[in-house]
Amino acid sequence: MNNSSHSSMKNQKVPFIVTIDGPSASGKTSVARGVAKKFGWNWISTGAFYRGLAYVAKLLQIDFESEFSEKINPLIEDKLIRLCQSSLWKVQMDPENTRVVFQGKDITNFIYREEVGEWASKVSLIESVRAHLLQAQRDCAQAGSGLVAEGRDCGSVIFPKAQVKIYLTASSSQRAERRALEEGSSPDLIKAAQKARDAQDSERKVAPLVIPEDSLVIDASSMDLNAVIQTVANTVLLKK
Ligand code: C5P
Repeated sequence: MNNSSHSSMKNQKVPFIVTIDGPSASGKTSVARGVAKKFGWNWISTGAFYRGLAYVAKLLQIDFESEFSEKINPLIEDKLIRLCQSSLWKVQMDPENTRVVFQGKDITNFIYREEVGEWASKVSLIESVRAHLLQAQRDCAQAGSGLVAEGRDCGSVIFPKAQVKIYLTASSSQRAERRALEEGSSPDLIKAAQKARDAQDSERKVAPLVIPEDSLVIDASSMDLNAVIQTVANTVLLKK
């Protein structure tokens, strides 16, 4: 697996990095896209790496779910690691959405469902998998003068020296309603699934979802999208 920005376009200047971490469906993607647009930067959903890996693993019938426990079966782990290193699939930055391509086919439309988020949360628990995706995530910063990276460990692990760190949250009902609207499913079912996924992401041993040190916490429950984007942009302008 690689990403489209790989090292050939290395910039001389240190890129400006903004990280946005937070629980599921808190609006990280829309805010990252909006902030990147304001500054002419790239943005990346780091969750797309885990979603892409989990989705492709399912397509290849790597049964990480039934073999899943606190300690994953080493044979399954080995298959997942080989898949992390494989050129069968790649993650691509795009102004509209982080894309995943498998064997030349764009599978982006399939990976952002809540169900794939649950699979992603399972593969993301595995330390060796995280270690194998880390460099490709960091390489996303090499392609431009700035990067907005959103996920769970962007400020704590992927880019600990980011100039601006944001922790974005919103009420659980609003987060569930947002995803339910996108997927045309029941807010109650989505709420329960998100609760389980957020607990798994926050309680895991490796790179859990945390509020990074020195981050600005934004509760977007009573803010509209533009107000959140502007708040992040103002924080960037203070540091530029
Ligand atoms: O952000 P998104 O919902 O796309 O992430 C899907 C899953 O991928 C998360 O629930 C989490 O388990 C995992 N993830 C992660 N670290 C990141 C981004 C996502 O573990 N930086």
